Amino acid sequence: MYRAPTKDVLFVLNELIGPQTVSTCPNFAEYSPELAESVLDEAARFAQDVLDPLNKTGDQEGVRWTPEGVTTAKGFNEAYAQFVEGGWPQLATDVEHGGQGVPQMLSTAVQEIFGSANLAFKLCPMLTFGAIEALALCGTPLQQKLYLPKMVKGEWTGTMNLTEPQAGSDLAQVRTRAVREGDHYRLFGQKIFITWGEHDLTDNIVHMVLARIDGSPPGVKGISLFIVPKVLVNEDGSLGERNEVRCASVEHKLGIHASPTCVIAYGDEKGAVGYLVGEENRGLEYMFIMMNAARLAVGLEGYALAERSFQHALEYARTRVQGKPPGYSGSAPATIVHHPDVKRMLLTMKSCTEAMRALGLYAASRLDLARHSTDAALKAASQARGDLLIPIVKGWSTELGIEMTSLGVQVHGGMGFIEETGAAQYYRDVRITAIYEGTTAIQSNDLIGRKIGRDRGETMKTLIGEMERELKALDVSHPSTQISQKAALEAVSALREATDSLLQAISAAPEKALAVSVPYLELSGYVIGGWLMAKASALAASKTGDFYTGKLRTTRFYAEQVLPTALALARVVKGGAASVLETDAALL
Ligand SMILES: Cc1cc2nc3c(=O)[nH]c(=O)nc-3n(C[C@H](O)[C@H](O)[C@H](O)COP(=O)(O)OP(=O)(O)OC[C@H]3O[C@@H](n4cnc5c(N)ncnc54)[C@H](O)[C@@H]3O)c2cc1C
Repeated sequence: MYRAPTKDVLFVLNELIGPQTVSTCPNFAEYSPELAESVLDEAARFAQDVLDPLNKTGDQEGVRWTPEGVTTAKGFNEAYAQFVEGGWPQLATDVEHGGQGVPQMLSTAVQEIFGSANLAFKLCPMLTFGAIEALALCGTPLQQKLYLPKMVKGEWTGTMNLTEPQAGSDLAQVRTRAVREGDHYRLFGQKIFITWGEHDLTDNIVHMVLARIDGSPPGVKGISLFIVPKVLVNEDGSLGERNEVRCASVEHKLGIHASPTCVIAYGDEKGAVGYLVGEENRGLEYMFIMMNAARLAVGLEGYALAERSFQHALEYARTRVQGKPPGYSGSAPATIVHHPDVKRMLLTMKSCTEAMRALGLYAASRLDLARHSTDAALKAASQARGDLLIPIVKGWSTELGIEMTSLGVQVHGGMGFIEETGAAQYYRDVRITAIYEGTTAIQSNDLIGRKIGRDRGETMKTLIGEMERELKALDVSHPSTQISQKAALEAVSALREATDSLLQAISAAPEKALAVSVPYLELSGYVIGGWLMAKASALAASKTGDFYTGKLRTTRFYAEQVLPTALALARVVKGGAASVLETDAALL
């Protein structure tokens, strides 16, 4: 049974980041710890009572495809209706478009809770939000009037249609065609892997589709963005004829079985009616504007599943009786939670999840400031920091999420491998998070290319300097905090050296940098996580109560057993490229 980790989320929001961080923005003047707590309590109730009970049944039942459409697993329709009734779709959308406009750091926290309870369900509103953002940013007033109110209320859902069989990581290969016809376009082509591309939850689906207008330049400069509704919308907002949009099939996949992953065919005969969003040939540019929010929303899925897997493993470890560890005082065999190695695995899961959550919410707070601060310098610095952190949140949290859910299986022993316990589902479900919305390699290319290479490491070095200053200023009167501070400073220094070495590689031989870009991304994640954990330790040391004592334990464990990984990764970044580059592809 899943329980939302509200205490830790509130600790990060209220103590580690602090509500004043965002409440200085006029848009968030009413944001307060009390508001955050009440929203999170409601989210926890919905997640625990409605979404969680459908997680396993949805996984077992999956979705059903017929030529007429897709039927979702039992209970999903009712859950979605409750989701809409509870006003959840509106949470993060700007007030001017009918949303509640809460800070992204709060909506990020809510998304974690929904993602833990039921990842397959959470994807539907996540994609809708992406489509809302695209329309809010680039749609015409008429497009916004026709589509946004229904989407913001959750009456219609949205999708993002980028991928085609030959165009995955490389969207320059998109071939779906758009032919101008009066005030609209006709689209022809096939998209694959479209999440929630067809379903029975709502009576319309608004597809945001990347396509190439006939005569456009080749490559990324010739791709445009279109609204292609499943059912055409009349001028008065009512539903009209069915568009030429067809779900050709759904994929059978490793995880997220209750989320329909669809092949969508556009334009079998006359062409699907599509409406251009923004200007011709600027589709990919628009996608980039929305990328931070989308990648953060997927990055958090890594720790959402790690949290859930941890809770499950802990519950099992407290009941499974096996052997007696040395020093155990009871006469009967002990529950496995007493074995030092089982405790080690559980502490790894708990501490890494806390570090990932702290990083995810911190990154979200920078995006809030970047969008809404009225202080120009703070706005620009927050944008640069947010841009730097997003590929790290996405790449590190999802890769680590996979490791953590694997540990969750390990804690269960053989029963972890048996579907009945449920531990395997989290491992299967989280696997996709390191692939969709840009694979880890694509995140690391972004990190070292756009984020480190472009400003010669300035934004990263500003962060490194800030981490060093803050770590040195920590109150280390508690021995645990001292341990955390020392380990974090050592790790930050390793990151500084690795960054210098990477910068040299970027200018001398970019392929050298690319050969170690993923280790560099992971190094950054561990180190920035270590900085936040050391700060958390200092905060916890000044408080009393079980939560803070627990925090002192997890932060110390992170310093002693997790953070040394960063030192090894820094060595890889400095000297690991040659073995990759000197191996000819033919030798593999
Ligand atoms: C369940 C699921 C849901 C999805 N939902 C959506 C959706 O809603 N909308 C949508 O448009 N798409 C969706 N996708 C598609 C997803 O975004 C792509 O699968 C992903 O971007 C990777 O593309 P690909 O599968 O073609 O892999 P490829 O691009 O073929 O990559 C294969 C391998 O090569 C590596 N690689 C490729 N290029 C580079 C490079 N330049 N540098 C280094 N390494 C590289 C990759 O990292 C990867 O390891 C979904 C996919 C799945 C499986």
